[in-house]
Amino acid sequence: MTSTSVRTRFAPSPTGFIHLGNIRSALYPWAFARHHGGQFVLRIEDTDTERSTQAAVDVILESMQWMGLHYDEGPIYQMQRMQRYREVLAQLLEAGHAYPCYMSTAELDALRERQMAAGLKPRYDGTWRPEPGKTLPAVPPGVQPVLRFRTPAHGSVSWPDRVKGQVSFDNAELDDLVIARPDGTPTYNFCVVVDDIDMRITHVIRGDDHVNNTPRQIHIFRALGSEAPVYAHLPTVLNEQGDKLSKRSGAKSVLQYRDEGYVADAMVNYLARLGWSHGDEELFSREQFVQWFDLEHLGRSAAQFDGEKLKWVNAQYLRAMEPQRLAQLLRPFLERLGLREQGVSLEAAAVLLRERASTLLEIAELCAMFYAEPAPDAQALEPLLSAPVREALRALAAALEGLPAWDAASVGAALKQVLGEHKLKMPQLAMPLRHLVTGRAQTPSVDAVLVLFARETVLQRVRAGIGAQGSA
Ligand code: GLU
Repeated sequence: MTSTSVRTRFAPSPTGFIHLGNIRSALYPWAFARHHGGQFVLRIEDTDTERSTQAAVDVILESMQWMGLHYDEGPIYQMQRMQRYREVLAQLLEAGHAYPCYMSTAELDALRERQMAAGLKPRYDGTWRPEPGKTLPAVPPGVQPVLRFRTPAHGSVSWPDRVKGQVSFDNAELDDLVIARPDGTPTYNFCVVVDDIDMRITHVIRGDDHVNNTPRQIHIFRALGSEAPVYAHLPTVLNEQGDKLSKRSGAKSVLQYRDEGYVADAMVNYLARLGWSHGDEELFSREQFVQWFDLEHLGRSAAQFDGEKLKWVNAQYLRAMEPQRLAQLLRPFLERLGLREQGVSLEAAAVLLRERASTLLEIAELCAMFYAEPAPDAQALEPLLSAPVREALRALAAALEGLPAWDAASVGAALKQVLGEHKLKMPQLAMPLRHLVTGRAQTPSVDAVLVLFARETVLQRVRAGIGAQGSA
């Protein structure tokens, strides 16, 4: 194995919801690690204790499990690393990269107001920042300070982003970030850096909503004597209306797609293409994706979710699937609809019906024609059952009964023969047959449908149908 040193991570905040844009931020680092024979780490950024919940963590784990995004290390919870963060805070303070700031909230508010009134961008003014020869204010009694990171005052910070190209920020734009609150708890950007160092992350592939954090994080890396990792900031995912994908803008959760009958491999394929490309390839296996994935072909502009395309991709996967596997995935969906595989082979039914469906749920719904007691619509049926048609159906039942083999070819031949003898056209027999045997007006080709049933079932339903009508 080459370059085993690649280490990537997915670092979600467990605040309740994970949509396709979120899981794509797991898929790409996962694929990158796999491509390089490296490691993929799952880190749970749960320091926002107000919004983080165990239920949300479970949703993340379940979504990754379903998508087959297995991690090599983790889940590592930030809340369990507090001791380590405190150590590193002390280290930064000791080295002069951080300093206590005693400015109260009221003072900060007043400062902000003065700056805004003067038409300036609000920022911390460095009151408590030690400088050679500077006398700091007297420490107010009884105040717990925050810790601020001492950002270089001059110059700039830049990095070669693998998606955005060279990105640069003036240090003057970055004021001295609070890295610990008065109670000593560390803040977000600081924890991310300590974790990325401790977890030896080599490539950070994440959403571009973090671009503004990156210059601050790079400074902290440097203060801790570490090289910053390679960054690739992914453009956002837009919904079909062109808004940023979010729960509020109507995005569905990953698990909802599972429950609607999308298959994980199709989701991986679709999401892989949503922001990355390999030539014109639209359909590829998970293995091909891992083999091809690189940072060079990540899209530079926002990707737009397309539900119809996702359906199409899913349908292609369903159509290409081994029948046995398809039946296995379908069973829970049948159950949910209160149906049970009986009489008709689910494998055979699924293979026949998948041509007209895009999801497992849609196939399962169509399966009702095989597994639910048919309830022919008497009103629709009545005009179809003229005396000559009834006569022909009686003859057909007799012909089917005598068939040496119960297969589509033989049933098709029997149908044709009866049609010829009775001078009828195919729909004149096929329509009432569908109603009587399946209770539905629409089915795949009627011979293909009939042979899936036991012969006795077909004969009984046809005869009962015309018998009842006939005696009325
Ligand atoms: N926890 C952050 C988020 O959910 C990700 C941080 C990162 O990837 O650096 O947006």
